[in-house]
Amino acid sequence: VTSATVIGGGLVGCVAAIHLKRRGVDVAIYERYGDPRQTERRTRPSVNITLCERGLRVLCRAGLLDDVLAISAPAYGRIVHAVGGATSFEAYGKPTEALYAVSRNHLNTVLLDSAAAEGISIHFDCPCLDVNPATGQVLLAGRGGQRWIEAGCIIAADGSFSTVRSKLQRRDRFNYSQHFYDQGYREIRIPAGPRQTPRLEPGALHFWPRGDFMAVAFPNTDSSFTLFIEMPFTGPVSFEALADQPAVRALFDKALPELVPFIPDGAPDFLAQRANSMVTIRCAPWSVDGRVLLIGDAAHAILPSYGQGANAGFEDCAVLDALVERHGFDWATVFDAFERQRKPDTDAIADMCYRHFDELRVNGLDRTLQRRRQVERRLRELFPDRFVSLYSMIAFSPIPYAEAWRRHLAQQAIVDELLSDDAFDFEPDRRHDGVLAARLARALDPRPALA
Ligand SMILES: Cc1cc2nc3c(=O)[nH]c(=O)nc-3n(C[C@H](O)[C@H](O)[C@H](O)COP(=O)(O)OP(=O)(O)OC[C@H]3O[C@@H](n4cnc5c(N)ncnc54)[C@H](O)[C@@H]3O)c2cc1C
Repeated sequence: VTSATVIGGGLVGCVAAIHLKRRGVDVAIYERYGDPRQTERRTRPSVNITLCERGLRVLCRAGLLDDVLAISAPAYGRIVHAVGGATSFEAYGKPTEALYAVSRNHLNTVLLDSAAAEGISIHFDCPCLDVNPATGQVLLAGRGGQRWIEAGCIIAADGSFSTVRSKLQRRDRFNYSQHFYDQGYREIRIPAGPRQTPRLEPGALHFWPRGDFMAVAFPNTDSSFTLFIEMPFTGPVSFEALADQPAVRALFDKALPELVPFIPDGAPDFLAQRANSMVTIRCAPWSVDGRVLLIGDAAHAILPSYGQGANAGFEDCAVLDALVERHGFDWATVFDAFERQRKPDTDAIADMCYRHFDELRVNGLDRTLQRRRQVERRLRELFPDRFVSLYSMIAFSPIPYAEAWRRHLAQQAIVDELLSDDAFDFEPDRRHDGVLAARLARALDPRPALA
């Protein structure tokens, strides 16, 4: 029996450990904080995240889908609340395609239960302090003090500010970059019940794109919502400028009047929080000598605009598992192949997430973008299997992220061409569909976009 030590009992650590255990690896998880299933003292803030097909596919294969869906609320599309109060619904995909919104901490407790049920030993309050890739040892703190343990192979799933990665950074030729986004976020809860007047429609994410900033409401299973507000840290419209209740109230009155009933007391919870930052982290190499592997956010933290961090981390677990199936416990080969396969994809989604935040904030406000979306919609209607939006490829297909981006660029070249051609009038006049179809049939990738 070979053994592995997983550092971090978060989302990715649990799912990676479950996969390894099922391959016959003797796995232990070491987690910095206490057991979130037994204590409310956990200092780590929860956020609402959405899972999409990419991540759910992995959970399904691991037999975890039902437990996860039981604590998640579906969102079949986004309802965009324009300035002035008009709303429009944009379906995420086909009528059966949905994102599933879930509290990260709640999801973590379900995954910890599943890991424990597999017979994986989970050690809480045991932060990893150091690793020695040469000997495969890990230094842990705990109630009994500090000790080095023989780790077998070390799977570092200790999140964006990974201790293990910080130790690897001291090594020669280890590349690392960290970039904080210039906007931050705060979350407040919109309770279910009488306060919700008018009610927010369930079954969707609600967006208030306001150019400088954006609010998004995520549904919860108890009909409450979690409101995520993203804006610059400093400047005229910023968290810094929202220093007191009158300032918060003035912003809501002016830009988000529909949400005023939900913050009747001037949002004390909103003011009590500090603005959280969002970071993109890239590094390489992800492994050392077949002894240590970085996985999940520890290897590639991304902005949450596409809701992909956990989904990508779960996909990491599936890729790792497939490589163990192919190469056995030849960890050096497995880890090298893992990085070769995954790094181009996680780099691609990191870039896409940057761009997408800007698009979300101006959704419905930017006329050029609106026109582009209109053309894309028409192309999707005409070629449902071949013209697939970048969003669908990311959220509702297993197409590798880098390949999704390549296909998107090819599609955008066609859209650019059509946008520059005044002869084409997409809506409501459909006279040109025949010509368009012939032209696009030549230009579009003949493979179905959704494998
Ligand atoms: C605002 C926001 C919104 C998001 N929305 C989405 C979304 O919609 N969809 C999506 O898929 N993703 C989303 N994400 C990203 C998602 O939360 C992360 O990608 C995901 O949690 C990564 O999982 P992980 O296990 O790699 O890291 P983490 O979840 O950070 O888990 C790391 C674990 O390691 C532990 N740990 C840390 N250091 C040590 C140490 N030294 N020793 C032992 N244990 C340690 C931590 O306590 C933690 O339990 C969002 C993130 C944010 C901030």
